[in-house]
Amino acid sequence: MTKPAIVAVDDDAQVLAAVARDLRSRYGADYRIVQAPSGADALAAVDELLARGEAVALFLVDQRMPAMSGTEFLLEARPRFPEAKRLLLTAYADTAAAIQAINEVGLDHYLMKPWDPPEEHLYPILDDMLADWHASVPAPFDGVRVAGTTWSPSTHDIKDFLARNNIPYRFLDIERDDEARAMTEAAAGEQGVIPVVFLPDREPLIQPDRRTIAAEVGLHVEAESRFYDLVIVGGGPAGLAAAVYAASEGLRAALIEKAAPGGQAGTSSRIENYLGFPSGISGGDLARRAVAQATRLGAELITAVEVESVKLEDAVKVVTLSDGSELRCHALLVASGMAVRKLDVPGYERFEGAGVYYGAAPSEAATYAGGHVYVIGAANSAGQAAMMFSRHADLVTIVARGPSLEAKMSQYLVDQIASTPNIEVLLESAVVGVDGAKTVERLQLRDLATGTEEERPASAVFIFVGALPHSSVVADLVATNDKGFILTGADAFVDGKRPAAWTVERAPFLLETSVPGIFAAGDVRAGVVRRVASAVGQGSIAISMVHKYLESV
Ligand SMILES: Cc1cc2nc3c(=O)[nH]c(=O)nc-3n(C[C@H](O)[C@H](O)[C@H](O)COP(=O)(O)OP(=O)(O)OC[C@H]3O[C@@H](n4cnc5c(N)ncnc54)[C@H](O)[C@@H]3O)c2cc1C
Repeated sequence: MTKPAIVAVDDDAQVLAAVARDLRSRYGADYRIVQAPSGADALAAVDELLARGEAVALFLVDQRMPAMSGTEFLLEARPRFPEAKRLLLTAYADTAAAIQAINEVGLDHYLMKPWDPPEEHLYPILDDMLADWHASVPAPFDGVRVAGTTWSPSTHDIKDFLARNNIPYRFLDIERDDEARAMTEAAAGEQGVIPVVFLPDREPLIQPDRRTIAAEVGLHVEAESRFYDLVIVGGGPAGLAAAVYAASEGLRAALIEKAAPGGQAGTSSRIENYLGFPSGISGGDLARRAVAQATRLGAELITAVEVESVKLEDAVKVVTLSDGSELRCHALLVASGMAVRKLDVPGYERFEGAGVYYGAAPSEAATYAGGHVYVIGAANSAGQAAMMFSRHADLVTIVARGPSLEAKMSQYLVDQIASTPNIEVLLESAVVGVDGAKTVERLQLRDLATGTEEERPASAVFIFVGALPHSSVVADLVATNDKGFILTGADAFVDGKRPAAWTVERAPFLLETSVPGIFAAGDVRAGVVRRVASAVGQGSIAISMVHKYLESV
């Protein structure tokens, strides 16, 4: 196979030679290093690569070039190789241009010249960028083929599972490919049984569960030990951060993740507000980096296995997994996150992220200046969002199923809403349809009292119909709030009363639940700020508390 290219562009012959030398010495074995003295020459080289069907992994371009600036070149080159990573070489004075380029050309990184020594200032950055590139392009086909149909949820589940665990596969659509259909029917023994997964030199897997596939493709699905200092439930940002800190501080730790590492964050296409990533980072890339970091430090990550229950044997926690095995540990960290409650409207999924949003960030409000925004829900979060959007949008409509807002919303918000002229409230109403070409353009609303329906134009729909904590594995053991979110620290003693399970003299540590040695971090906790940084912070801090607890057992 031809090596993917790294394209270096600089009008200064000396700098270009130095860049090419550094690139060749580190990456020459795996990449073709293409050098060009101007944007125009580089575009000609890029067009040639395109014509030959070759790949470009990285553009490394000087910003200050006379005829065509680095940013202008990247604007031209981007549509030709949209997946290629983009790095701008800048002088100190160009920093503002580089920051602007983050938005204009989706710049991944900028680097100030000079970068000597490259081992410290250049290679670590390029290593990360090239690893991200490899993860974003279809990996070389490795023999796993998933046969099914595009709209089958179980086929989608397996494809999603493989992709999120970085396992390359080929999809065989049996509705379009007669050969694939015949092969699938022969394997399954009858028509319509999908998905079927084909692996080299093995029997096809008929409608396999995630664990079967995970084991077949070589993921780590079984714990190496029966006893750990710490077991972490969930591999989202909180669990992964805890695994990194636990392993780096010498704890024997196992993390159990039922689906794929990354959690909710792993499904985000771009996390813009996580410190240290000025161009944003995709949830998949963040998860992949965290997994590599935790594993390198010695944490054990067990995937495609679910924690089903937890019980106590005196101070020891006994964790039962979905494969029937049991793990014992001194301390347990519940970092199992939550799921947003989905809107029950057929077909709306295709607009998720394209006019249909769960929650709302203040930064999104300005996007809908002059538009008509719908907020679905009747709790405080919906009221706050409506107020926020009312400062930008022409009209904000709150759609609530109940007969009044007062039941779930604080009175101050109800009053604010009533005195804001561009907010309308539709009570006893529901959204029953969402429609548009690429983004949301229209909504179908139903009056629940009369059953009448009407279609209305819409710019966006923000959904606040609640969250479901993944706390069931410890719900019988630890104190939770009325929604099932876990109470920790001082809040773990409801009304200040010591629960029966509290067997020690001290008060709960920060992030400790109402059972000594069971901790919780991230979105599964009550009253928490639901953000990646917040989850990572809690997962990290939890390990200090675990150390304190372990001193006492
Ligand atoms: C689409 C989307 C975009 C987002 N964008 C941003 C953003 O840009 N910036 C930001 O700051 N925040 C963002 N968030 C919020 C952020 O992702 C969450 O706050 C964060 O992921 C919470 O981390 P967590 O580790 O607590 O839980 P989660 O991310 O929910 O992870 C929990 C993990 O536990 C696993 N699990 C659950 N139960 C079990 C069990 N019984 N056994 C084994 N494993 C289990 C789940 O499979 C999951 O992987 C976004 C959320 C979503 C859904």
